[in-house]
Amino acid sequence: MVYLGEILLTEAEIGGHFDELMEWVNEVKQLDIRVNADTPNDLLTAIHFGAEGIGLCRTEHMFFHEERIAYVRQMIVAESLEERKRALTHLKEMQKDDFTQLFRIAEGRPVNIRLLDPPLHEFLPKAEKDLERLAQDTGKTLAEVKKRVNELAESNPMLGHRGCRLAVTYPEIYKMQAEAIMESAVQIHDEGQKVFPEIMIPLVSSKEELAFVKQEIKNSVQAIFDRERVLLPYDIGTMIEIPRACVTADEIAKEAQFFSFGTNDLTQLTYGFSRDDAGKFLPSYGERGILETDPFQTLDTAGVGALVEMAVSRGRMTNPNMKMGVCGEHGGDPRSIHFFHKLGLKYVSCSPFRVPIARLAAAQVVLKEQAQLQKA
Ligand code: PEP
Ligand code: MG
Repeated sequence: MVYLGEILLTEAEIGGHFDELMEWVNEVKQLDIRVNADTPNDLLTAIHFGAEGIGLCRTEHMFFHEERIAYVRQMIVAESLEERKRALTHLKEMQKDDFTQLFRIAEGRPVNIRLLDPPLHEFLPKAEKDLERLAQDTGKTLAEVKKRVNELAESNPMLGHRGCRLAVTYPEIYKMQAEAIMESAVQIHDEGQKVFPEIMIPLVSSKEELAFVKQEIKNSVQAIFDRERVLLPYDIGTMIEIPRACVTADEIAKEAQFFSFGTNDLTQLTYGFSRDDAGKFLPSYGERGILETDPFQTLDTAGVGALVEMAVSRGRMTNPNMKMGVCGEHGGDPRSIHFFHKLGLKYVSCSPFRVPIARLAAAQVVLKEQAQLQKA
């Protein structure tokens, strides 16, 4: 049905039958359902729907606001450590404020904070007015800024200088974020509240890369604990979203306290379908019956899922009790959730409004298994 004009909307009613159904769901489901949230509002909504923590806070999303993106741009175009540190000082204050709010709302539930993973094309300025603003902010001429932006432009940004690669080149970026996370956590702890941060490193492809980045983060965290004379529990782990990370998961597990499967990038990199461009050709695959479903919506269990399965079993060879979850879009898709349950993962994480569906799917797969057992 198509409606002409704007439809009157009402808030989803929580309570009554919904609550009763969700109580049954909680008695049965084994997977935890977390939320992908970067704002207090999203987290509040998700907790209202029964989310059991944050599975992914994309920190780069915290900077999309016009005032904030200015500092990210300054950080990106910086040509010296000094220039970069100047931008990072501003970003740190913003991040501390953001994290403190999230920790307060989470009330001790795990909060998984993914360190910066900005595909450069999403952050570099293109419009003339943004280039002019950047010139003003950095004290460079417009021509100098344009030259720098051109130098930084990439042919394949999704495969470029993003994720932990940024921290290999510029360790001070993740250092700033680790400090912001832990200083906020200490503040919450001092207020008498529980807090459990999980620090997540994106786009890891090797044990050595993870070890380097992790050590820098651990040093920063330890310096805060020493200064504040406090010791708080926290985990450092990695996203598993590159096929090589799946294949070498036994090695990577030596350096990680948790794995979180980034099935968006893992799908992109396994199929070789660009996330930004697939919309142009995937519909033909559907029409011609080549693909039954969009693999960015429902996990391709035969290919991408096989890699996830390999990473789970290899990771567990090193650390049988490792915490593993999913934070790609598939974490909110019922068919994919069934698959993740069967792999014995601890949690899936999805957008706030998918939390109830994810909870239901997590219970349905258990009931299905029980019914099959009874039949056998
Ligand atoms: C992913 O790749 O699945 C993921 C969660 O990270 P992002 O979508 O931010 O790349
Ligand atoms: Mg990703």
